[in-house]
Amino acid sequence: MNIILLGPPGAGKGTQASHLVSSRGMVQLSTGDMLREAKTSGTEMGRRVAEVMDRGELVTDEIVIGLIREKLDQGSDGGFIFDGFPRTLAQADALGELLAEKGETLDAVIEMQVDDETLVRRIVNRAEEARAAGQPVRADDNEESMRIRLMEYYKKTAPLIGYYHAKGMLNRVDGLGSIEAVQADIAAILDN
Ligand code: ADP
Repeated sequence: MNIILLGPPGAGKGTQASHLVSSRGMVQLSTGDMLREAKTSGTEMGRRVAEVMDRGELVTDEIVIGLIREKLDQGSDGGFIFDGFPRTLAQADALGELLAEKGETLDAVIEMQVDDETLVRRIVNRAEEARAAGQPVRADDNEESMRIRLMEYYKKTAPLIGYYHAKGMLNRVDGLGSIEAVQADIAAILDN
């Protein structure tokens, strides 16, 4: 089973994806994690990606689609969780084509709903907690980049909600509940 976790930055997609990896043996494909890895590669591409990401803007469709294509080629018995991808309509179309080429389907899209004030608070807290623990703080986990990330989400990613609704694939969960409550809501959708 292949699913998309859709939602704004800070909605909890990564947390829920990790749970699905351990509970169901699925493979998490986070383009954010892949791009952060590319940032540290010391290549020209990595430097360009870093500038765009740190501002809070989206990197080009071409780059992320290329990253996803490589991972899909490796296959997954438990299915894939797409986390932070697709983020544009072009990426959504590309994903549909890549899956079709492999004879695979997209089985569910789960939109995690969280209000903006909570999102900003979560991200600012995450940065403060990391700082207090002496851990690295994500360069885009500050209020200014977060506002841009949210605007990018509403302009470019939120249209995917209508796109998947029209395809009859959209499911919604309340992302304000406890981690366990959200896990239960997602499990109910996947098991129905
Ligand atoms: P979050 O969801 O918390 O904003 P991610 O880790 O998913 O964080 O992504 C961090 C950054 O990586 C994004 O702000 C963007 O610059 C880049 N990025 C991640 N995925 C994509 C994507 N599918 N398309 C374009 N840019 C992406």
